[in-house]
This record gives sequence, C-alpha cells and structure tokens, in this order.
Amino acid sequence: MDIEALKQAVCERVDALAPRLVHASRAIHANPELGYEERFAHDLLTELIEEQGLTAQRGAWGVSTAFDAQAGTSGPSIAVLCEYDALPGIGHACGHNVIAAAGLGAGLAAASVAEAAGGRVRIMGTPAEESGGGKVLMARAGAFEDVDAAMMVHPADADLTAIDAIAIQQLLVQFHGKAAHAAAAPWNGRNALDAAVLGYMNVAALRQHIRPEERIHGIFTRGGDKPNIVPSETAMEWYVRSGTLESLQPLMQRVLGCLQGAADACEVEMTHQWVGISYADMIDNVAMVQAYAGNAARLGRVVLDPAAAHKVTGSTDMGNISYLVPSIHPMIQVAEHGVPIHSVAFAEFAGGEGGDRAVIDGAKAMAMTVIDLWTSPDLLARAKAEFDRRPTGVPVL
Ligand SMILES: [Zn+2]
Ligand SMILES: [Zn+2]
Repeated sequence: MDIEALKQAVCERVDALAPRLVHASRAIHANPELGYEERFAHDLLTELIEEQGLTAQRGAWGVSTAFDAQAGTSGPSIAVLCEYDALPGIGHACGHNVIAAAGLGAGLAAASVAEAAGGRVRIMGTPAEESGGGKVLMARAGAFEDVDAAMMVHPADADLTAIDAIAIQQLLVQFHGKAAHAAAAPWNGRNALDAAVLGYMNVAALRQHIRPEERIHGIFTRGGDKPNIVPSETAMEWYVRSGTLESLQPLMQRVLGCLQGAADACEVEMTHQWVGISYADMIDNVAMVQAYAGNAARLGRVVLDPAAAHKVTGSTDMGNISYLVPSIHPMIQVAEHGVPIHSVAFAEFAGGEGGDRAVIDGAKAMAMTVIDLWTSPDLLARAKAEFDRRPTGVPVL
C-alpha cells in the first residue's frame, strides 16, 4: 500500500471507531479522576483496546493506572500517548478525556495497518500529568527505551503547533533557630521567622533580575507558635520556573542563595529539599510537527505557530519525554478562542461537540503522522537528527 492508501485506510478506521471513541471521551469526562486514581479511565481504555484484538498491559511499568499496548512486529516504533487525569473541583477542565480518546483512536487506526505498512505503534496510557509525573515514572522503568518517536494532542482554544511549556521545580525550606522568651531573654534566641521573612524579601529583590519568562512563587507554611516565643522552626514552600531545564538550574541556585543569605544573617541553620519530579520544558520536534500540521490541514484544521497566533503557557511531563525521544505536543481546538484551559467553561467544551470533533480529527491527524513516520525514512531521520541537537547534561528522570 502506498502512503495515500494507508492514510485513507486509517481515516476510515477512525470513522468506523468514532462512536466508541466519542463515548469513551464523554464517559471519562463524566467520571473525573485525579492523578494515580484513574481506575475508571484505565479500565475503559484497556477494554476498548482488547475489544479490537490487541493485548493491553494493565498497570504497565509499575504504575497502577498506566497501560501499554503494541501492534506491528518490525519497523520504527511510534508511541501515541493518552492522558486521562482530571483536576480537583473542576473535573476535566484540561480536557484530558479528549487526549485519551484521540490517542486511543490514532493508536487503534495505526494498529490496523501496522503489518501492511511495516511499522510498530504503541498506545500508552500515561496517568497523573497534572501533578505526579506519570510519564516520568514510566520512563524511569524503561517505557520509552524501545520508542523512536512519541506524540499526543492537547485540547486548547486554538489549533497550535505547540504548548509553551516551561520547566518547574518545587522547593521546601526549613529554618532552625533557637527558642527563647521574647520579652525576658530575646538575646538568647535566634529567630527562624526573621530568616524566612528576609529570605522572602531577598527573593523579591532577585525577581527584578531574572528573565521575563522566569517565575518564582513562595509561601510560608510554618511561622512560629506564639508571639512571646522567639520562633525556632519555620518552613516555606517555593515553585521555581524557567524557560528550560538547563536555565532552571542556575535559577534554583540563585533562589537557594537568597534563602541561605537570610539564614546566615539571622544565625540560624537552613535545610532544604528539591522535592517531587521537575517537569522539563518541551522540545517540540519541528520535522514531526510539520508532518502533523500537514495532516491536520487535510482535515480543515489550520495549525498555527503559537508565536504568530496565541499561546498556552504551562508545564507538562511530556517535556521530560521530549528529552528522551523526538516528541510533539500540538494543541487542538475544542473551545472558542479566548477560553483558557483549567476553567469551568473549558471543561464544558471538552465534554461537548467541540471535544468530540477534536477526538476524531486528533485521532486522524496523529494516525496519518504515524504513517508518515513509518513510511518516510527521511522524516524519522530528520526528526532524529534534530533531536540529537537537544541540550544534554541536565538529568530529566
Ligand atoms: Zn493538560
Ligand atoms: Zn492541565
């Protein structure tokens, strides 16, 4: 089969699957689950995969709500990723139900021609994107070692080639001083609250001299027990964000320097932990996203460069994957222009007709892009050559 016949075949397969895909999207939307609790979505998606004759590995890569399925026996291995976690209080306001159903449709359609086209496709269920870094846990267990390229689509209020994903790291800090009676013998005390306050002010001063895309936000989580006791133990929580994982490293050190300087001034000890999983920035593979945009255009979707149109800023664990294999994270329109993700209004669009259309078009555009990656060796080679120029030396797992 030639490329055109294969693309026609996958689009017809998505049309045949459309009622199931739309039902899956709406059912996941109606049953929002937080990260690592997505049992309903995990079970529904794996059942649909097995109904189509594939084997789904449940609880894959040691993550209980992850899954993995494969079709094809030789050739390049392309992963289509499904997210399905929701947000507390506002449900599927990030539209991950659309990501799940579009990924499922793309993967099943590509699977139906994998042998004929000489390629392999993986349908991977990647939980806990909003927090918890499901993709990172899966990658640590080896999930992406046999993958040549990875893709997903994310709902938005426009069709865009990329999300503007910046790197983020969480920091916990504790100051340890010496308690004393604040009236009777303050000279015996060393004030851990003063250290936290000065540290906060030091970071405020630092903010004037950081890059426009960088963000630092902090709160006090422990500030003392009683006014008449010199506070001996205080604690803060910080988020540090920068354009890339590489530029994040020196910013993390500058923040730590501000806090340590405050501890030194107050003669208290400071301890800190860089906690959780840092989400990397997204390295969007241009060769792959051009192929995706070409395929989306065939469906009547004009996919614009975010710089020229409109951008969606956030952080995602797909960024970490983009440092491991050539990857794309295009945004697909489900909502009216101007409706931001993580809003109640966006959740309605994700569960409505705009979401349904994005499921079908996203599935087709990704399935056709898988065909391009399988059948045009030049495309995968260009994607890999571009990937090889990524920054290295910063750990992403
Ligand atoms: Zn999202
Ligand atoms: Zn989100």
